[in-house]
Amino acid sequence: MAIDSHEQAVIDAVPKELFIGGEWRPAASGKAFAVEDPATGASLCDVADGDATDAIAALDAAASVQESWAEHPPRERGEILRRTYELLTERMDDLALLMTLEMGKPVDDSRAEIKYAAEFFRWFSEEAVRIDGRYTVEPGGSGRLLILRQAVGPCLFITPWNFPTAMGTRKIGPAVAAGCTIIVKPAALTPLSMLALAQILTEAGLPPGVLNIVTSTNAGATTGPVLEDPRLRKLSFTGSTEVGRRLIAAAAPRVLRVSMELGGNAPFLVFEDADLDAAVDGAVLAKMRNIGEACTAANRFHVHQSIADEFAARLAERLGAMRVGRGTEADVQVGPLVEEKQRQKVVELVDDARERGAKALVGGEALDGPGYFYAPTVLRDVPSDARVLREEIFGPVAPIATFMSDDEALRAANDTEFGLVSYAYTRDLDRAFRVIEGLETGMVGLNRGLVSNPAGPFGGVKQSGFGREGGHEGINEYLEVKYVAAQIGG
Ligand code: NAP
Repeated sequence: MAIDSHEQAVIDAVPKELFIGGEWRPAASGKAFAVEDPATGASLCDVADGDATDAIAALDAAASVQESWAEHPPRERGEILRRTYELLTERMDDLALLMTLEMGKPVDDSRAEIKYAAEFFRWFSEEAVRIDGRYTVEPGGSGRLLILRQAVGPCLFITPWNFPTAMGTRKIGPAVAAGCTIIVKPAALTPLSMLALAQILTEAGLPPGVLNIVTSTNAGATTGPVLEDPRLRKLSFTGSTEVGRRLIAAAAPRVLRVSMELGGNAPFLVFEDADLDAAVDGAVLAKMRNIGEACTAANRFHVHQSIADEFAARLAERLGAMRVGRGTEADVQVGPLVEEKQRQKVVELVDDARERGAKALVGGEALDGPGYFYAPTVLRDVPSDARVLREEIFGPVAPIATFMSDDEALRAANDTEFGLVSYAYTRDLDRAFRVIEGLETGMVGLNRGLVSNPAGPFGGVKQSGFGREGGHEGINEYLEVKYVAAQIGG
């Protein structure tokens, strides 16, 4: 299906060049790459293909204004963020359409992402003026201790394709509030949303050089020299655990400060006393938001044996009734996966589970193209050694396993190297607290299928990473603590 004139106008409105030092410019190499619509496989437009020369130019720009930006009044930094929040909200419909075109998710999901993304600017506009310190009397009584918090310095942000705007704003919001300058390398699959965001931040008054965007198809070679440059003071990465490990190693020689928001394998526990209506609603949200392509997606359902048949049948009915199609069409609830490689991984995981004895209650197959569609799927009787329970699915597949006791449920939930988020449904308060305390994840959804909230500290434990985005904790990632021992008086 060809794109219509409004879609074309939304694409045309976005600059397709690198954004460095407040100017739009082509890649130094003159190269560009195509951005694809995953619903059709058709090319939407070409975007500048930056390399290490461009990334170092971006670092030059960021480093040159770091000092003046850190001295910029916090109130003004906050007001730039607040204006950006308002512009994002005003332009939500076009920004959501742009996101759907390059990423595939239904336009309602894209709208929800723009709203979520904008809220980080509102939240951190309020935090910008609350960067405080301490002044205390030394325990011996004579000296004084002063504790200051200062901007870390130039930051490199590497972001994924699944939430093309929000994964950027969760970092840009606190960095701007703290007085840091920034280079962003967005995912090559979805560069347009980040370029549109740069345009809006500029309109909101962000000074040249504070934010720089380098789009590229060669992520490692483009960002490598920046990581080696002593002017860079911080790396914040959102993406897979595999790439995160490599970046931690690349940051080690300079002992670079790093934050890592990595992969997940979220368990969704349904205990026998759960409100089943709420659990099914929560399961649909936790599984199907973003077509299952979320680090927080419920990856596996562990349901008490006594209610598993009913839960599975109801979930299968709900997923089977969801409308699959191009995300721009009205009423579509499930868009295409982002690319064929991603769809192929889902095919492999479902095939593996079936070979080991799982049954598909609904779905279980890739859908005919064009586009990378996969049918919403519920798998029953999934054995514990199935890959689908151990690996991040990133697709619309809900595998269901069962348990007999709370201990068994907790053991199964924690039996993974990941630790981002977990979900639990129970009406028993004692059980709820035992489970919350026992779950080895950075976040827990208790009787709800969505945890993301700019006011809460988002992040994981174990191999899901370290550092927090949002909440009061979020800005600490961009502040250094300086302690001054002052001799006062004799
Ligand atoms: P990815 O393959 O790790 O890529 C993430 C980003 O890293 C992209 O910008 C990518 O660029 C870049 N990259 C890839 N190789 C690199 C290298 N060697 N050096 C520097 N940068 C490199 O992950 P993805 O497939 O985009 O995203 C999905 C993953 O992100 C999932 O595992 C998901 O759980 C995780 N995620 C985590 C969170 C969280 O908050 N914990 C949130 C969202 C997503 P190109 O794409 O251009 O190659």
